[in-house]
Amino acid sequence: MLTDTPTLGRIIEIMSKTSRRVVFGVLLIVTLVVSAGGALGYLGRLTLVFDRHPGKPLAILEEVPGPPDGPKCPIDARYLDEAPDGLRPDVLQAWKLLRAKASEQGVQLCLNDGKRSRQQQQKEFDEAVEKFGTEELASKYVLNPPDRSMHVIGLAVDIQPIESAKWVEKNGSTLGWCRRYENEQWHFEYNAGYSTGGCPALVPSATGS
Ligand SMILES: [Zn+2]
Repeated sequence: MLTDTPTLGRIIEIMSKTSRRVVFGVLLIVTLVVSAGGALGYLGRLTLVFDRHPGKPLAILEEVPGPPDGPKCPIDARYLDEAPDGLRPDVLQAWKLLRAKASEQGVQLCLNDGKRSRQQQQKEFDEAVEKFGTEELASKYVLNPPDRSMHVIGLAVDIQPIESAKWVEKNGSTLGWCRRYENEQWHFEYNAGYSTGGCPALVPSATGS
């Protein structure tokens, strides 16, 4: 009779097997629900970005402001030496390398202007309109619409003083930095391809005027 009755130990064993199965089952369901929710949330966020800026999932970069001001350039007080905040991450890395290489050769580079947000570029344009009187004249000096500026995209730097810019023009291309415009000796743009292919020919100006 006793042999047909499960012992206490056997009952505990069966119960613990059952509860282990239940625990695993619950864990599996929780994991699936959390992953599905995560995936939906992720997709939902992507959709929101597309909704705000149709066709431009990375438009956020253009809203990132650069420093509006900065300390004076230690070797020429007419210029600033801004923090390189807001530059695209690969450009920031390349800027640090360029500055270190210059420093090794006794040349100090000042970042007179780097990253600008779309709003900062628009403000520069508005100020130029006030200064020159018309939008047509202003657009000869400041890019408009603001999205066209490589500063807004985060891959351009204005380097001063001119002696330092000249050093970059001579030595920067191996690190991907090239001067782009005949009328802007201080303006350099980063492109990893420049380090192997060399700099493209200068164009007259950023504004095409
Ligand atoms: Zn520039």
